Amino acid sequence: MKELEPFIRDIPDFPKPGIVFKDITPLLKDPGAFKRTMEILKDKAEALKPDLILSIESRGFLFGGALAYMIDKGQIVARKPGKLPYKADQVSYDLEYGSNTLELHVDAIGKDQRVLIVDDLLATGGTAAACGQLVRKQGGLVAGYSFVVELAFIGGRKKLEPDPVSS
Ligand code: AMP
Repeated sequence: MKELEPFIRDIPDFPKPGIVFKDITPLLKDPGAFKRTMEILKDKAEALKPDLILSIESRGFLFGGALAYMIDKGQIVARKPGKLPYKADQVSYDLEYGSNTLELHVDAIGKDQRVLIVDDLLATGGTAAACGQLVRKQGGLVAGYSFVVELAFIGGRKKLEPDPVSS
């Protein structure tokens, strides 16, 4: 989606040397670019017919919340450890830089509910795949994965397919 590329800023060596961080704040700040992004996410989401949007902390919240509102579905949140107030399922995984753990309230997903997993960026796919594991653990179905940015050269989508992946 060439029209949105100018709104993604490359920040070399953040948060560690060798990482080119994709800064989405120019896209968030521009109402036209954000609207266009959300319309694309909406079109893709509607085709996947999810019952719930799962937003991943923290930049996934910026898109998942707006998307849930636009398609009139509920939102559930995968959060960093210790943030959720109720009982939670937990999953740990490796990141492009470091490792991480995410939690999801144990009653977030009902049996066979279709869940669309949303985040700002797909790199190795570890974060999104971990959320897929949480969805399945709770008896849900992964409707698909939706990202704003994909670092295609890393090939993270291989970790997520054959479930639908879009960016
Ligand atoms: P991964 O699990 O490797 O697919 O990493 C995806 C998660 O890490 C997302 O939540 C992103 O926000 C973040 N992330 C990883 N690499 C980058 C990057 N180069 N620029 C911005 N965010 C990144």
